[in-house]
Amino acid sequence: MERQKINYDFTKMKGIFQRPEELNNFALERMEKVAYLLRDKEKYHCPADCNDCCYGSILMSYTEFTLIMLYLQHNWTREETAALFRERVGLLQNDESLLCPFLQEEAGARHCRIYPARPLICRVFGTTASPCKKPVTPSPLNDELFYQAYNLFYYGSGRFIALDIDRKWSVYEAPFAFWCLADDSEESRSFLRSFIEEKGDSFRAVLYDQEAKMFFYYSKGHKEIIST
Ligand code: SF4
Ligand code: SF4
Repeated sequence: MERQKINYDFTKMKGIFQRPEELNNFALERMEKVAYLLRDKEKYHCPADCNDCCYGSILMSYTEFTLIMLYLQHNWTREETAALFRERVGLLQNDESLLCPFLQEEAGARHCRIYPARPLICRVFGTTASPCKKPVTPSPLNDELFYQAYNLFYYGSGRFIALDIDRKWSVYEAPFAFWCLADDSEESRSFLRSFIEEKGDSFRAVLYDQEAKMFFYYSKGHKEIIST
């Protein structure tokens, strides 16, 4: 079955590769710390034919999104990146979630095209915190360690990291395609705002209401408050 795509031309994006140097350095420093924290935990590489944990909403922080964009800039050709935005970013898995654009589903292909830069949520699969379905040996990862890594990606100088869509809403945790829209231009942010309001009952992202000072999911036309 042919997959549907979000009705936005992601090849129009111009600004998302021009991120401030300080932000790039911040993301690299944080990744170095997380890699150190998890240094004994990622003992195995996933079998090439397994992608069991790659479906559903794969949410990430702005820091992790920045790291992926850096990885693409340094490791992919312009043509590969152009094809990614043309063919994969915004592809829908079903009515309820976006497909991860880096997933390779062809038989025998290594499942992840950005394995060294994959988000934390993908790294913790296969640990005792979230065991794999396949018979790989999980390495232990306790909650404390997970949240230390999580906080490094999601918080800086004691404040959470988010990106404003407009004066009212910010994005805190979202799939890759949402971060692209939030990060590119006023036009793409405005598309994202209306997309969330229209489809918010289906697509997961954690947003922040700046006036009410609360995190929420947008669900069936209503805010589902997570915390203040
Ligand atoms: S983490 Fe586990 S379930 Fe996910 S791709 Fe690797 S082996 Fe498969
Ligand atoms: S980033 Fe890689 S490991 Fe994570 S969901 Fe996508 S394909 Fe799977």
